[in-house]
Amino acid sequence: MSDIIQLLPDHIANQIAAGEVIQRPASAVKELLENAVDAGAGDIRLIVNDAGKALVQVIDNGKGMSETDARMSFERHATSKIRSIDDLFHIRTMGFRGEALASIAAVAQVELKSKRAEDEAGTLIEIDNSVVRRQEPVAAVNGTSIAMKNLFFNVPARRNFLKSNAAEMRHISDEFIRVALAFPHIFFSLTANGQEVFHLEKGSLKQRIVQVCGNPYASKLVSVQEQTDYLNITGFVGKPETAKKTRGDQYFFVNNRFIKSAYLNHAVMGAFDEMIAKDSFPMYALFIELDPAQLDVNVHPTKQEIKFEDEKIVYAFVQSAVKHALAQFSITPTLDFDLDASIQRLDAVSNPFTAEKKNSAASSSLYQTFTQKNQAHLIERRSNLSNWKDFYEAAPSADSGTVSQYQTVPTEQPGQQSAPLLPDIPATVALLQCHNSYIIVPNDRGYLLVNQQNAHERVLYERFIAALDGQTIPSQQSLFPVTLELNAPDAALLGELLPELQLLGFGIESFGGNSFIIRGTPADVVAGNEQHTLEKMLEQYKHFSSDLKFSKREKLLRTMAGQQSIKGGKVLTDTEMRGLINDLFACTVPNTTANGKPTYLEFRKEELDKMFGR
Ligand code: ADP
Ligand code: MG
Repeated sequence: MSDIIQLLPDHIANQIAAGEVIQRPASAVKELLENAVDAGAGDIRLIVNDAGKALVQVIDNGKGMSETDARMSFERHATSKIRSIDDLFHIRTMGFRGEALASIAAVAQVELKSKRAEDEAGTLIEIDNSVVRRQEPVAAVNGTSIAMKNLFFNVPARRNFLKSNAAEMRHISDEFIRVALAFPHIFFSLTANGQEVFHLEKGSLKQRIVQVCGNPYASKLVSVQEQTDYLNITGFVGKPETAKKTRGDQYFFVNNRFIKSAYLNHAVMGAFDEMIAKDSFPMYALFIELDPAQLDVNVHPTKQEIKFEDEKIVYAFVQSAVKHALAQFSITPTLDFDLDASIQRLDAVSNPFTAEKKNSAASSSLYQTFTQKNQAHLIERRSNLSNWKDFYEAAPSADSGTVSQYQTVPTEQPGQQSAPLLPDIPATVALLQCHNSYIIVPNDRGYLLVNQQNAHERVLYERFIAALDGQTIPSQQSLFPVTLELNAPDAALLGELLPELQLLGFGIESFGGNSFIIRGTPADVVAGNEQHTLEKMLEQYKHFSSDLKFSKREKLLRTMAGQQSIKGGKVLTDTEMRGLINDLFACTVPNTTANGKPTYLEFRKEELDKMFGR
């Protein structure tokens, strides 16, 4: 028998390793932007074509590379950022593993141009499939330009896994925004297919947040700033009235690295408790600075989770800092510091953290405020902002057609699906609503117990299907068109959904950048609620987004039906109940919601009789 183990050729090993670092165009965007930041650039330009599938290019004016370094930078585990294991505990750069460029070169065609200020000429390198095709001196400006072309041209299976351009573009702008927010003193731009999407002048963090998240925040940010020996927190939270129905503008950075943390998010939400409606999300961009020794750096750099040495302390600090900021704002609402960018960019925590320091942190006033109950008790309580408006209230005047637009229900036919069809309910049959959630409907066979929310979801779902198939839902013109300002990813998503929303009765137009104008809404959306309804719709749509088995259309249908349905707990008038029941049994599939929940249960008289021994 011959031996069977072989070493993989380098280019295959590289391709496999690359899969962990570069999953999609946005991963390359993140790595290349971070390299430019690490190179000390003050001006960073990102160019993408075809949502990064054809081209991702980053041009910076940083320190550049020598001829040898330029060649070396594509080797795996080649980095200028650490030399020993010890360095890992003092990392202040974004990268350090020396894997990004090697990975990119393994799965794309790369062209690098770089020049240091001290060199006469720059250097040009072309690599594809990890093989250097060309290296020669070129005339170049100081700095580095790296272009990654035709991602996964040599790994078709991975290329096929890429999502639609709109989806990949959303990932790219997410990554772009995260880096741009963390470094407001650097100029950033993003150009997609020749169009400049972001142009972010250098400025303060506050200015950067407004540039990225939208002008409405200009006078609506509350500064958060707490410094202790253990950690510093700086940044901004949106005033409670800016909370949106859609999660979006929420950012944590630890030592300037964007992280995701449900745990810390919970801390912030706790600080906003009672000030905002239950289902709304405040804006925040919070920067935590602490000694790198307090972090587990051994987590993979492309992962956005992070491990703190002492997570509970960080939670308490974050919550306390935000509460404190909000309390100050509500006592003196006009107090709105204009923070200098230099204060925001806190210096590295250079001293190692000692037990002694930890003790002094524990005795610091901040630590004590969060251990004391009732701090920030001056925060004003606001009433629950529940402005959901149900369909039926608006229906009679604004859209009298909706309730009765279905033709009379067909009579029961043998062999048809099991729904106990009802003829239009005679006025003499009394309907009864129980618990403001169920409707009891007598029929000749016994009675039906209808769940009002599920029933209405089905009705709307079928109405919306008809709408997308051409029976457009009439739109009522808003007296005063409302503008809607979204963050870039939400704007991209809304842009994608516009044609369908049109058919569903929304008159929405793109207004340039991330703004939209709402000129009309379906009859059942109450004036004044347009923005709320759309934000909530986007949020719910995103919940479905990871669900690959549904098409965009189906996701939208289910989202809208779920959102606009009347809810349990809503008192219905007799007319409303009759309208709903008639509509339900005019549906093609009256017995379940689109998600498969039953809309009613049937209780037959003969079974009831049996139960009572009759
Ligand atoms: P890492 O960032 O983890 O060190 P990379 O593969 O991203 O690994 O980069 C390898 C090296 O190439 C870096 O350590 C740096 O020295 C150099 N480099 C990469 N991009 C740039 C750039 N834009 N400007 C200057 N040097 C760069
Ligand atoms: Mg790097």
